[in-house]
Amino acid sequence: MMKTMNWGIVGGGEGSQIGFAHRAGSALDRKFKFAAGALDVDPARGREFAISLGVDRARAYGDWWEMLQGERSRDDRVELVTVATPNVTHFEISKAFLENGFHVLCEKPMTMTVEEARELVAVAKRANRVCGVNYGYSGYPLVRQMKAMVADGVLGKIRVVVAEFAGGFMADAADADNPRVRWRFDPKQAGVSAVSVDCGIHAMHMACFVTGQKVTKVSSDFAHGITSRELEDDSSTAFRMDGGAIGRLWASGLAIGRTHGLTLQVFGEVGGLSWKQEQPNQLLYTPLNEPTRIIERGSAGLSPASLRAGHVTVGHAEGMVEAFANIYRDLGDVIEAAKVGAQPNPLALDYPTAEDGLHSIELIHAMARSAKNGSQWTDLI
Ligand code: NAD
Repeated sequence: MMKTMNWGIVGGGEGSQIGFAHRAGSALDRKFKFAAGALDVDPARGREFAISLGVDRARAYGDWWEMLQGERSRDDRVELVTVATPNVTHFEISKAFLENGFHVLCEKPMTMTVEEARELVAVAKRANRVCGVNYGYSGYPLVRQMKAMVADGVLGKIRVVVAEFAGGFMADAADADNPRVRWRFDPKQAGVSAVSVDCGIHAMHMACFVTGQKVTKVSSDFAHGITSRELEDDSSTAFRMDGGAIGRLWASGLAIGRTHGLTLQVFGEVGGLSWKQEQPNQLLYTPLNEPTRIIERGSAGLSPASLRAGHVTVGHAEGMVEAFANIYRDLGDVIEAAKVGAQPNPLALDYPTAEDGLHSIELIHAMARSAKNGSQWTDLI
């Protein structure tokens, strides 16, 4: 039995969207203890919040550089650092921690450019450190069940994949001057895409994760439902995958009434699967010419990957925090195994890697290029 490892986070300060899910998810399986952080762009606010969460005063840092300097010389230094700052800072912070021997879990999108993404993959390899990317939705037990069913051939060869991440979260035109919304549509801060890189990227990662296929080419239409925006608030993408699957992605911030709106449907020669993140404990499975069945999370007979990812017994709801916790548990298992030179539990290798992060960035840039060229079919590389 390994002892709990120290964990730290950059970003995720008070009032941030994603900080709580990381703090809760990292703690759930007792692999990690929250020991250090540079939580806020405002140093004083960040220190104060970290201390209020129980972080030792000496390890409640004002910024990430101070955290790196403070932690790297400690015997009990944090082993895994989560980077949950705004997108433009991911590359620089993740690279610096990896190069100084820390393992990293980087929020998505991993980087702004394909070149940076390639470099980060290389840096992690060189440093022999784990670099995960937080496609946390792939931690849901029934998403792992979908992957296992596809891999076991239950659906036959996959013909069509339909991925959606369309909600009403960017639908209010009156929000145009809200600073937390405005940057997402400013190319200088957001890069080549808004809703596709913010949301669509998750659905596409799930499509690749579940099918075990990579995207080879895309034809994208980026649209501006709120016409004053410089970047897209709605996009549709047709795509093709290297195992022959045909795909569709709809990403939108304009779909009022669809609250989170993340769904994945996979259709094979002899069956179909349908999963909605808002009802994550049920998976619909329809064998060819047979009625639809509801697969409940935690049921007997589910795949080992899915059962391992559950925390409470069948019939009790699990959600996003537990899904994030599964990514942390995988990382914990892999880091522990590396420390003693052992092979990790193969089921722990389901966590999203820097290579997955790179594929996503290549994909987003191909989508943006296609959209600029009248939806022309565009190869990823
Ligand atoms: P947010 O604006 O709500 O919060 C950002 C936090 O980072 C704030 O506390 C801010 O003070 C802090 N911060 C900013 N710059 C910093 C710096 N240089 N050093 C330390 N702290 C800094 O943003 P958010 O919605 O929480 O998003 C953060 C990241 O998480 C983004 O990359 C976003 O894409 C990603 N995200 C991922 C998911 C997911 O499901 N995986 C969901 C939401 C957001």
